[in-house]
Amino acid sequence: MPKANILAVEDEEEILELLSYNLGKEGYNVQAVTSGEMALRSVKQQTPDLILLDLMLPGVDGLEVCKALKADSATRSIPVIMLTARSEEADIVTGLELGADDYITKPFSRRVLLARVKAVLRRGSEPIVTEEGGLVKIHELVINPGRHEVLVDGVSVILTLTEFRVLHFLANRPGWVFTRSQIVEAVRGDDYPVTDRSVDVQIVGLRKKLGDAGRYVETVRGVGYRFME
Ligand code: CA
Repeated sequence: MPKANILAVEDEEEILELLSYNLGKEGYNVQAVTSGEMALRSVKQQTPDLILLDLMLPGVDGLEVCKALKADSATRSIPVIMLTARSEEADIVTGLELGADDYITKPFSRRVLLARVKAVLRRGSEPIVTEEGGLVKIHELVINPGRHEVLVDGVSVILTLTEFRVLHFLANRPGWVFTRSQIVEAVRGDDYPVTDRSVDVQIVGLRKKLGDAGRYVETVRGVGYRFME
């Protein structure tokens, strides 16, 4: 099977070389560009299977590139992994809300780079884990929205409606990082006004009730939450 085409966008030459070298060695076809303008031109000529996008670019920056890609139906579905500095948490949140799939903080190891790339490419070709009726089976959990029921190792756990919705939303896309706003958007009920801050309260309650299985609900510091793959 031919390996995926990856577009790497990074203005720091050393990092760009590192990306090209490591991904090339794995058999990926890498197109390397050094600016947002070049990135947008490149995707029009050839649609990549994945874009590695540095956020801090001179001129059109990474967030603007992401916004432009997600606004265009021809490029909307191309997965985007942001490359960021650890200090750019606010930008990571904005990027995820703009539709980026994941992020890698610099400096990164070869192992992390390849793992993230592989995970995002795999997710792109696979449906989410939901079975018929929205049933999610993951680790030792069975989440049944039809019955509004959660089983941990076969034992029923009683959750509030909002806790249930948060869990179902996160567990349905394991490995994906979601910001608080994205969670609010997804679980917004008519019964209960969920806010960014109350998401944290829901998560605390959820973890407590799930017991050992609560560890699967991971905090991604400064960004949001993720259900462990
Ligand atoms: Ca940069």
